[in-house]
Amino acid sequence: MVKMVEPVDTELHPQPRVWTLTYRQNEVLAKYPLFFRAVHFPWSYPANISHFGILCGGGWYPIIEALARDVECELRALLYDQLQLPDKVAALEGALATGRVTFPILPICTDISQVGGELKVELLLGSMCPADIAERIRSYIDIAEASSRYICESCGRPGKYREAYWRRVYCDDCTTPVGPLHQALTPA
Ligand SMILES: [Zn+2]
Repeated sequence: MVKMVEPVDTELHPQPRVWTLTYRQNEVLAKYPLFFRAVHFPWSYPANISHFGILCGGGWYPIIEALARDVECELRALLYDQLQLPDKVAALEGALATGRVTFPILPICTDISQVGGELKVELLLGSMCPADIAERIRSYIDIAEASSRYICESCGRPGKYREAYWRRVYCDDCTTPVGPLHQALTPA
């Protein structure tokens, strides 16, 4: 059983746009324009990140920045390698013309969110990404996702996953409210 509702008129862009972003998130996304190009050019890349931006707490932004920095370096090197010589350009365009190369060409981030208390980064590797670079990018993502288990999602200090009630990674300070709520949440 579902209830249908009227669509909300946000008076914002008809195209998918990132309209929920904070200043800090915009800073992170702007620094790595190749990896986050789905955010900057949403009309070319239908993806969750084009609609909603980064869907996790700011405490994890440094993890995401470190990951994006590493991937952006790989992308720039890959792009330079593929497009510096005419024969490489011709090979790429020939592959595009005959359909041997499909969308997208370069690795691209499509979604960043929090799932089950852990950072989740989704990407498409693209048809021009060699296996060794794909493997390195996968390992960067594995490291970022594993690191999120020990970093407070709210403030970025060392934390741990809270099984009860919170179901996210927090440091002790971020889960210590004062007053009656604290007593209600603290087991006797
Ligand atoms: Zn914290």
